[in-house]
Amino acid sequence: MKGLLIFSNDLRLENNVLVARAVSDCEELLCLWLPSPSYQRAQSYRKCFIDCSVGSLKKNLEELKQDLYCLKSLDSESLRKVRTHYPFQKVYFQNQVASEEVTQQMILQKFCAEVGVDFVALDQQYLVNPSELPFPREKMPFTFTEFRKKVEQQEVAPLLSQLRAQSEKPFPKKPLTPSRILEPAPGGQAPQIFYPSRDQALQRLKQYLWENHRIRTYKETRNGLLDWDDSSKISSALSQGILSPKEIYFEIKSYEKAHGSNESTYWLIFELLWRDYFKHFHWRYGNKIFRREGVLGFDHGVKELPNEETFMKWCRGETGDDFVDAHMVELNQTGWMSNRGRQNVASYLVHQLKQPWTWGAQYFEEVLVDYDVSSNWGNWLYLSGRGSDPRAREFNTRRQAEMYDPSGEYQKKWLPLKR
Ligand SMILES: Cc1cc2nc3c(=O)[nH]c(=O)nc-3n(C[C@H](O)[C@H](O)[C@H](O)COP(=O)(O)OP(=O)(O)OC[C@H]3O[C@@H](n4cnc5c(N)ncnc54)[C@H](O)[C@@H]3O)c2cc1C
Repeated sequence: MKGLLIFSNDLRLENNVLVARAVSDCEELLCLWLPSPSYQRAQSYRKCFIDCSVGSLKKNLEELKQDLYCLKSLDSESLRKVRTHYPFQKVYFQNQVASEEVTQQMILQKFCAEVGVDFVALDQQYLVNPSELPFPREKMPFTFTEFRKKVEQQEVAPLLSQLRAQSEKPFPKKPLTPSRILEPAPGGQAPQIFYPSRDQALQRLKQYLWENHRIRTYKETRNGLLDWDDSSKISSALSQGILSPKEIYFEIKSYEKAHGSNESTYWLIFELLWRDYFKHFHWRYGNKIFRREGVLGFDHGVKELPNEETFMKWCRGETGDDFVDAHMVELNQTGWMSNRGRQNVASYLVHQLKQPWTWGAQYFEEVLVDYDVSSNWGNWLYLSGRGSDPRAREFNTRRQAEMYDPSGEYQKKWLPLKR
């Protein structure tokens, strides 16, 4: 059997149900990476992170004598071209949630139906996959608390590696011809931070849990702004599927078995459930999560005064509010911002500057190294009071600065000339 394995945001070989299925079905395999349309909008750090993640997967595949190519344009003509050179009989692709990626999935599915090729699409970006939820997804509870209480009552389904011994079957061989018609996948020197390779991401998880034991104090430190270990920093690896949420969950469970559980070990799982909630919520409400008026279309009473200059000042970190500006400078200089920072700058944009929340969400899409469509838009929606909680979350940034940066050290770090 000749297969076509298309990676998207599932850039790993282990505990990847599509890879496992393709390895077991096929004698020959062509591996492709399909960039999401959002990749075209990514600015420097985010783009670099994705390129390095893809490059790292490519290296892992090369160790198995495989290649990774890039499927730059996705239409029936380019797919036909690939098939002329390499007559694949089965296509493997991860099920998608967001409309642009769902459109990609539909193009692939339609092409397969037209040429009589099997199309295998599977879910694996969740801690609790749609088929594992204790309710039909279309009837999911509206609020996070209701969702969490129901989902927490059941066991998380095991990882592939827990279900069966490592496959004895060698990785299928690569085809000979496609290099003439396809571009190689991008690569890049992996930066030390944000963990774009599988090894780096696994090492980070090991360090945060087993070496530093910082998971033991996660609940108390997660709002910290200065120490790298204040939170896990695994979101970028999760966003590209370098690690899966189930892998993180079971690592936490092993840690709890060895060292005991506490509120903090539980809280990291609690946060992973927020991630799941936003993904299922996104599937349930579709493109409504991108609308200015939100999923229910209610008005939270905050008047908007759209002004591009005001918005650009916020983007550049020139609002005059040092706490907000320091966070935006950190984001622009690193591609990263803490959860506390994200909440504050979002609230400031919506409530103080009265700019559309969708503008802020779009800017985050371009620059965040860990950009995840459902978590980003879901959080913005939630904070602006247009998601599942009609209360708009307004933060007093002066008070927040006093609480979370009492010595001003964080603001000094990112605004050295102002302080
Ligand atoms: C306005 C706004 C935009 C955001 N955009 C994104 C985004 O594009 N991508 C993204 O991964 N997260 C986003 N978040 C959520 C959160 O800020 C980040 O997941 C977190 O800061 C990542 O750091 P960490 O890995 O150290 O998280 P930790 O605190 O160590 O948490 C562990 C994991 O739990 C998940 N998680 C934690 N908090 C949240 C949350 N509020 N919502 C959903 N999942 C959560 C993440 O996968 C995270 O990696 C956003 C939050 C806000 C307020």
